[in-house]
Amino acid sequence: MTGGARRGTVVVDVGGVKVGGAHPIVVQSMTNTDTADVGATAAQTRALHDAGSELVRVTVNNEAAAEAVPDIVARVGVPVIGDFHYNGHLLLTKYPKCAAALAKYRINPGNVGAKRRDENFRTIIDVALTHGKPVRIGVNWGSLDQQLLTEMMDENGRRSDPLDAREVMIEAMIASATRSAELAEECGLPHDRIILSAKVSGVDDLVDVYRRLARRCDYPLHLGLTEAGMGAKGIIASTAALSILLAEGIGDTIRVSLTPRPGGDRTEEVQVAQQVLQSLGLRSFTPQVSACPGCGRTTSTFFQEMAEDIETHLKERMATWRERYAGVETLRVAVMGCVVNGPGESKHADIGISLPGTFEEPKAPVYVDGKLKVTLKGDSIVADFLKILEQYVETRYGASRPVPSDSVSP
Ligand code: SF4
Repeated sequence: MTGGARRGTVVVDVGGVKVGGAHPIVVQSMTNTDTADVGATAAQTRALHDAGSELVRVTVNNEAAAEAVPDIVARVGVPVIGDFHYNGHLLLTKYPKCAAALAKYRINPGNVGAKRRDENFRTIIDVALTHGKPVRIGVNWGSLDQQLLTEMMDENGRRSDPLDAREVMIEAMIASATRSAELAEECGLPHDRIILSAKVSGVDDLVDVYRRLARRCDYPLHLGLTEAGMGAKGIIASTAALSILLAEGIGDTIRVSLTPRPGGDRTEEVQVAQQVLQSLGLRSFTPQVSACPGCGRTTSTFFQEMAEDIETHLKERMATWRERYAGVETLRVAVMGCVVNGPGESKHADIGISLPGTFEEPKAPVYVDGKLKVTLKGDSIVADFLKILEQYVETRYGASRPVPSDSVSP
């Protein structure tokens, strides 16, 4: 998969992170703290960045939030995007330090004001020009420009063959995004300082909107299923929507909008976004473990525990490995439950182990670069395998050369 049919067009610089063209698809996220709380927002921004978010958005919803932004930005090492609704034109002009500190402004054309919509929009664009910032024109069907929608509905009603309401809604979302982009350019904002998004919460609607948007403009597109929801539903719906579009080369930056459980981990949305990109072969972030689901041949929990131990080891070691071993994120590890598929899957991985299934001889063959390296036995199979894994990483990625056939031993 190249993910590249449409990509390769406009590139937007967001605080040093390049979005669009042939650049890697950028992972972003959003805080859910009170932005006015500098300590909490900076801590969550750092946590999201540490998890792999390359851009982090914060809501700038009132004066206290606008005042807090420069302090937050000063405490984090990641470009921060300001999310503005209703009063962005007021906050950005009253708090120039906030405007200067942010890496990009997100404008929702559906709520920049009813009476003075264009005037308020122009004010934000003027601020972006003053500070040399890009903007995202972010349409959301939950706050779609009602005036535009009504006009388009009326126009549709006068047609001899009126379109259905869904069709008009989709076209209104696209029109809201593209007309706002035109207005921004009329105000002098360069073409390469605009990113578009048009989010809906239904997978088929999202795919439809973005396919059309991609055909009609060459601005980088920010993808995301809005209000995706909680847990498995949110993850699966987001993955389904993003995968279809990314596989068609549509999308230059993504956010997965999960609702965390109370006290839940906000960084989960970053992990999901990364896993979507890595599963599609578009980017590599962390070594991938192929583990079989287990079945009646693995009746004990030993196999599950071992698979988990290895996953945990990889996660814990990545912070160090990333600094020391270039390319280690492409490592593929197989942890299999028995010899039915174990050796075969292990041969396809860089390093793999097949545990003994029920009634099988108590031994665990380890494959390295497709060849049987050693067969582990006894109570220390996990520890021995992790030792082999460490040696493999050191030898392969430390020296940037293939592992010699005799270099690995338990
Ligand atoms: S590899 Fe073995 S244990 Fe795993 S699912 Fe297949 S048959 Fe079951």
